[in-house]
This record gives sequence, C-alpha cells and structure tokens, in this order.
Amino acid sequence: MRILIHGGFFSESSQSNETKLEKQQALIQILEKAKDYLTEHTALQTSIYAVSLLEDCPLFNAGIGSQIQSDGEIRMSAAIMDGATQKFSGVINIEDVKNPIHVAEKLMEEDDRVLGGSGACRYAKLSGFEAYSTQTEDRKKEYLSKKQSTGTGTVGCVVLDQEGKLAAATSTGGKGFEIPGRVSDSATIAGNFANQHCAVSCTGVGEDIVSNGLATKIVTRVTDGMTLEQAFKKSFSELKPYDGFAGAIAVSKNGDLYFLESHPKIVYASYNGAENTVFT
Ligand code: ASP
Repeated sequence: MRILIHGGFFSESSQSNETKLEKQQALIQILEKAKDYLTEHTALQTSIYAVSLLEDCPLFNAGIGSQIQSDGEIRMSAAIMDGATQKFSGVINIEDVKNPIHVAEKLMEEDDRVLGGSGACRYAKLSGFEAYSTQTEDRKKEYLSKKQSTGTGTVGCVVLDQEGKLAAATSTGGKGFEIPGRVSDSATIAGNFANQHCAVSCTGVGEDIVSNGLATKIVTRVTDGMTLEQAFKKSFSELKPYDGFAGAIAVSKNGDLYFLESHPKIVYASYNGAENTVFT
C-alpha cells in the first residue's frame, strides 16, 4: 500500500513558518486517516477520501479555502482517474458545493463523465449536493486587497492499494484572479492521470501543465518502460523552454513513489508501506 498527497505550491515569501508547519501537520493527519481507510477500501476510494479531507481543510486551495476569481466568484475543478478501469471523471468550474471531488465521484457512474460550468452545477444540485459556500474570510481578505496569491495550493493524491490497483485524484480552486471561464489543468488528463502502471497528480500553473501534457506524458513514459525518475526528469526538462511552473506526484505499480517540482516549494506527505514522511 502506498499513498502520496500534495498540498500544492506555497510561496516562501508570503508564507510564515507557522503556516508551513500547519500545512505539514494537516497533511500528516490526513495521510493517517487515508492509511486507515486504505486498509478496507480501494485505491480509487482512498484517493477520493484523501482529497475530500484536503478540500475540507481551509489551509489549501480546494473546496473550503478556494481562491477567488477576478469577478469575485469561486469556481472549482476536480477530477479522479481509476487506473484499473482507466475511467476519468471530473467537474470544471463548479460553484457552491463543499466537495467537488464527490461530484466527480458521482459522475463515474455516468456515460458523460466530465461536466463544466452551469451543467456541472445543475448536475450537482439534481444529484442532491447541498448548496455550500466555500469562501473563507482569509481568501476574501486576499481578494479585497488584490493580492494575487498567498501560496494556497491545489491538492492531490495518488494511491496504490493492496490489490495493486492505482488511482489519482486532484482538486483546485484555480490560480486566483482568473478570467471567469478559464479551465484549470486539474480536471484534465494533463493534471490528473492514471493507468495500470502509474498514477500522477499535478499542481502549478495550469496553462504550463496543459502545454506539456504533464500527467498523461509521465504515465505514458512509465508504461513504455521508463522508471518514474526517468519519466519525471524527461517530462520536466520539456517545461524548460517556456519556464513552465509545475509540480507532480506519482506512484507506480511497483510501489515506487516520486515527486518533482520545477520551482520550489510544494508540501507533500507520503506513506511508503512502512513509514510516513513529510516534505517541502
Ligand atoms: N493547477 C492549478 C490551476 O492552474 C493551480 C495550482 O495548482 O495551484 O488551476
């Protein structure tokens, strides 16, 4: 069993050591819960569970605590991918739900598995998701003071379960201050991808991640025989010509864990089958 979660990028300059510590502690607590959960659930179920806990934590830029867009509204995106069945589902620019990842989960049952904007909102309402404002005082203050970002981060999780199945889940409040209608990478195969060989979740500037096709590219390279390290190094080198800003986490079917970032810093926590580790 393996789990690797990330809490997105944070900016060293705008974030106190106290906040960094708080984020690390939150990640470890969520990792512990996800570990327990994984003993009786699949990789897919556990990745959704871990991301829902990250969405519930206001320290991170997903679900509660999501960043506010240029028109003052919050629009969130989330996706899951089951490596075993290679089914992907997601919501893009959904509003007024507490856990976008659970709407993505519900969409796994549908033929139409990625919904955006008003369609996603309508689907959530008709499926019984209660209206919920994910805006926090902190995000509102940042928005009103026109600060671009205080280093809140997208969240993601990759899991290998006891049966050797893999899954990835990712959720975001976006970049902050974006033009309404902008599409984040998080609910695309560039930001979240998995198959029977490897599962990847990304964070960073969505446009850079999409330009590189990062998650799907790493998974394809591992499928074709590269190690995680080789696949990451090659794919990240391809961000360099345009100084792409991205980070990614991965687990392979062999139980290898790997993460890399083009620009520091991301917060991570992992369980390698024996022990927990927290990194920044
Ligand atoms: N990737 C997210 C986006 O561009 C933002 C982030 O990861 O911080 O919407």
